[in-house]
Amino acid sequence: MTGKQAAVRQTGRNLLEVELEERIASLRAGLGEDLLILGHHYQSDAVIGQADLTGDSLKLAEQAARLTKSRFIVFCGVNFMAETACILASSGQSVYMPAPQAGCPMADMVRLDQLEACWRELKARWAKDLIPVTYVNSSAQVKAFCGRHGGAVCTSANAQKVLDWALIQGRRVLFLPDQHLGRNTANALGLKPDEMCLWEREQSKLLGAGPRTKVVLWGGYCPVHAEFSPEHIAEARREHPSAHILVHPECPAEVVQAADASGSTEQIIRAVEAASAGSTLAIGTEINLVKRLALRHQDKKVVPLSAGNTACPEMARTNLAGLLACLEGLPQGRGLVTVPDDVAAGAKLALERMLLLT
Ligand code: 13P
Ligand code: SF4
Repeated sequence: MTGKQAAVRQTGRNLLEVELEERIASLRAGLGEDLLILGHHYQSDAVIGQADLTGDSLKLAEQAARLTKSRFIVFCGVNFMAETACILASSGQSVYMPAPQAGCPMADMVRLDQLEACWRELKARWAKDLIPVTYVNSSAQVKAFCGRHGGAVCTSANAQKVLDWALIQGRRVLFLPDQHLGRNTANALGLKPDEMCLWEREQSKLLGAGPRTKVVLWGGYCPVHAEFSPEHIAEARREHPSAHILVHPECPAEVVQAADASGSTEQIIRAVEAASAGSTLAIGTEINLVKRLALRHQDKKVVPLSAGNTACPEMARTNLAGLLACLEGLPQGRGLVTVPDDVAAGAKLALERMLLLT
C-alpha cells in the first residue's frame, strides 16, 4: 500500500483530495510565514483543514488588521470578507481569493446608487438626525458611504454595540442591508415595532415610517438564514424536548424570538463548547458549521434545526482545487483582491469605528 493509499484509508478522504493536500502542503512549506490562510466557519471541512485561522466575520476582520507578518493573505470565504481584509491589511500585504467569484447575495441587495437614492429621501425627512450602519456583509462602496457619512460597520457579533453607539450619535439609523439582523438587534436593545420601519429596496419605498421611527431597516436578507421558520423550532422542540436551540441573528425575528439564544458563528461555537456533556443542541445556521460541531462534540448531541438545504452555495465555491490553483498562481497575482484607494479610505473609516467599539 502506498503512503497515499494509507492516508486515504485512515482519513476517509479520496485520492484526489489527498493529492491536492500534498501539493498544497509543499507550496505552504515553501512560502512559510509569508502565507496566511484565513477560513470562515461556513467553509467545507476540507478547506477549514487548510486554514491557519478560522473565525466569524468579526474575528477574521480583527485578524486581518492585526497580523502584519504575512505577505500573502489567502481568504477562503466570500468577497466582502476578502475586501475587508484587503482594506485593513498593512502595506506590503496582499489578499487573494481561491474563488474570486464567490459573492454574498445579501451584500448584493444594496448598490451604491440605490443607497444614495434612499439616503436623499431619508435626509429630506430627517435632515441632520441620521446615521448609516452597514453589516459587514456589504460591498466596500457601501462601507465607504457609511464611513463618509459618520457611520460604521457592524458584524453579527457586535451589532448591538454598534447600533447603540449609532442611536446615541444620530438618533435615527439607516441599517443596511440585513433587515433581520437589524430588527433582531433593535429588539434586543428594547426598541418597539413602531420605532422601526422598512426601506422596500425593490420599489425604493419607505414603509411604516412615523414620528417614533428610530431605525430604518434596508429590506435585504440572507437567503440561507431566511429559510428558517418558527415551525422548525416547534418541530425541534417536539423531537428533542430538552434541546437548547441556538440560531444566527440573520434568521427572521420570529425565529430568534422562539429560539433559546442567538449569536454569530463564533458565539454559537462557544455556546456549544460550553454546553455540558450529554446535552442536546439544535442549531439554526449554515450546515457546514453545524455538521462540524456535531463531529467535534460527540459527547453532546448537535443537530441541525432544519432538515432543509441550509448550505451557502457561495461559500461552497471555494475548494481544495481552487486553493491549490490560488497558491500556485500567487506570483502572477491570481485571485488578487483590490479595492480602489478612495473607496478603501472611506470603508476603513467605517471599519475602524467598529473596531474601536469592540
Ligand atoms: P458571522 O460570520 O458574523 O457569524 O456571519 C455569518 C455569515 O452569514 C457570513 O456571511
Ligand atoms: Fe451571504 Fe448568507 Fe452566504 Fe453568509 S450565509 S455569505 S450572508 S448568503
